[in-house]
Amino acid sequence: MKFYSLNNQNIQASFKEVVIAGIAPDKGLYFPESITPLPADFFENIEELSNHEIAFQAIHQFVNEDIPDGALKEIIANTLDFDFPVVDIEENVATLELFHGPTMAFKDVGARFMANCLGYFSQGEKQDVTVLVATSGDTGGAVANGFLEVDGVKVVILYPSGKVSEIQEKQLTTLGQNIEAMEVDGVFDDCQRMVKTAFLDSDITNHKKLTSANSINVARWLPQLFYFLFAYKQAKSKGKEIVFSVPSGNFGNICAGMVAQKLGMPVKHFVASTNVNDVVPKFMENGVYKPMSSIATISNAMDVGDPSNFVRIRHMHKNDLETLKEHLSSYAFTDEATRAVMKEVYSKTGYVMDPHGAVGYLGLKEYQKSHPDTYGIFLETAHPVKFLDVVEDTLGLSPEIPPQIIRVMHKQKKSHQISEYENLKSYLLDT
Ligand SMILES: *Cc1c(COP(=O)(O)O)cnc(C)c1O
Repeated sequence: MKFYSLNNQNIQASFKEVVIAGIAPDKGLYFPESITPLPADFFENIEELSNHEIAFQAIHQFVNEDIPDGALKEIIANTLDFDFPVVDIEENVATLELFHGPTMAFKDVGARFMANCLGYFSQGEKQDVTVLVATSGDTGGAVANGFLEVDGVKVVILYPSGKVSEIQEKQLTTLGQNIEAMEVDGVFDDCQRMVKTAFLDSDITNHKKLTSANSINVARWLPQLFYFLFAYKQAKSKGKEIVFSVPSGNFGNICAGMVAQKLGMPVKHFVASTNVNDVVPKFMENGVYKPMSSIATISNAMDVGDPSNFVRIRHMHKNDLETLKEHLSSYAFTDEATRAVMKEVYSKTGYVMDPHGAVGYLGLKEYQKSHPDTYGIFLETAHPVKFLDVVEDTLGLSPEIPPQIIRVMHKQKKSHQISEYENLKSYLLDT
């Protein structure tokens, strides 16, 4: 399997090359040259397959020449050692809980899979790979946890000082070993800018093998298709057409779901639910893609003004708006609407949604107004305790803190405080 650059399909690379490089030399995102549907009996008998078997069959065509079957199975087993339950909330509405992993966000799946692939490719290499990543919250913890103790890989995480929650900060600053945290005196955009500058700085790239761990990287993006299949396996017996509503920021998660559909998974429709960062809902309405500066909201992991993976979604639908509309609807919601629905669902059903899941719920309900006889699944992308302030403030209750969070809260924070690019550069050159 080759992957091509979305900027120029003549630029091609193997799975190994795209995982190590992250982005194509012309700055395009990589995309698989083909997506071959799985055999019909895979979906007919999916209830009889384990999650590990499902994941193996789904990802095999994309990596097969570069990782032997035995090693790929091991990578999958290391990645998927927790549950992905579909929980019914009300008639025809369920949630796919993606927060049962080590850092309680769906990013655990992609981060672990990528870490294991990079670890595999680093075996026997003389030079370490350095993963450089900027985070506004959840990515940092998932990447730190996924890459911890992976031989041949060092991780440097930049985060904005005082702008991530206490739990998120602990998750990315307390692990030590091959994980270093850079606490940047600035906002997320400053962190992002420093990372981008480092990738273009030949003083650094001549000295170090650098890669990124955001959802541009195929090994972080593609494995997210696994849990759409796990959800299908659980929802199939309902006998209804299935709709997925995905709370979206960079649109990597929903795009992976669309790959599952290309693999043959029966899905009626996808809903991309956003907060007021509504570049995609506007595009779906008027066909004009207009990036904006991001606006801060209570669902801050989706505060994205120029979603990086949306080009992949457009490409999958022939860059044609009418074709895309057959598969995707997109709606935006304010913080007020999000808080109101968190309260409503809690008082009606007792279910506590985090603000991101709540946006997903809102999008699903909007779609179901005109398609009531569907079985809708919205993705709960993070555990409510990860957004404790908002949940406490909105619902007036304190959710119980799970053990994997309590464990890190007792650990000592360690970070390098930096305020400008030169600080990051000298750190990278000295280590
Ligand atoms: C990252 C994140 C999202 C957005 O996912 P994308 O793949 O960037 O669209 C949604 N919710 C939570 C909790 C996240 O951490």
